[in-house]
Amino acid sequence: MSITENLKRIKNTLPNDVALVAVSKTKSISEIREAYDAGHTIFGENKIQEMVEKWENMPKDIQWHMIGHVQRNKVKYMAEFVSLIHGVDSIRLLREIDKRAKQNNRVINCLLQIHIAEETTKFGLNANELNELIHSDTFHKMKNIAIVGLMGMATFTDDTNQIRREFRFLKTLFDSTKKTIPNISILSMGMSGDYEIAIEEGSTMVRIGSSIFGARNAH
Ligand SMILES: *Cc1c(COP(=O)(O)O)cnc(C)c1O
Repeated sequence: MSITENLKRIKNTLPNDVALVAVSKTKSISEIREAYDAGHTIFGENKIQEMVEKWENMPKDIQWHMIGHVQRNKVKYMAEFVSLIHGVDSIRLLREIDKRAKQNNRVINCLLQIHIAEETTKFGLNANELNELIHSDTFHKMKNIAIVGLMGMATFTDDTNQIRREFRFLKTLFDSTKKTIPNISILSMGMSGDYEIAIEEGSTMVRIGSSIFGARNAH
């Protein structure tokens, strides 16, 4: 099936209140252009350099989401245009984003990434670190970032019960975080292989790549 057909099929199955981030990492400008021409404007990338090049070469009404691990020394390259950073997992990174956002006269929307998977390779805060961060003075003093929600990735496994448990745990943290940051509204969870479960467990934003664009080459 074509990119256009895949997009249409997936959008038809998503509830109205669930946003779709089309994950376009490793994909070419012309592939992204096909999705854009089909009416899609939210794209996710996991490398800052690659996202900057695509931003430079694509229409300016596209919203670019950074979904990968962010190195602090590269925040400056995307601060001018990035619309949502999904993978914030430290106060130091948040401070850098705040500083670069200020230089650009912007408030940059961020999600705090929570470690919910079994694998140790996936980035993110644990429940205690989340709690510490959202109650810290440093966080409350920052004026050029807005925490608008949480993000997490489930374990890569066939065990759907485990995936469900991990998403459910993230939803619990999301609900409790709301008591400290009442205006958070985004729960970014679910990818091609597990987004149906994520939606059943309360996701409001899914990040889907291969089911739209086809398999990726090794990255
Ligand atoms: C690559 C990636 C996705 C999309 O994965 P697919 O399985 O291709 O849908 C979603 N989220 C993050 C953080 C990713 O790096």
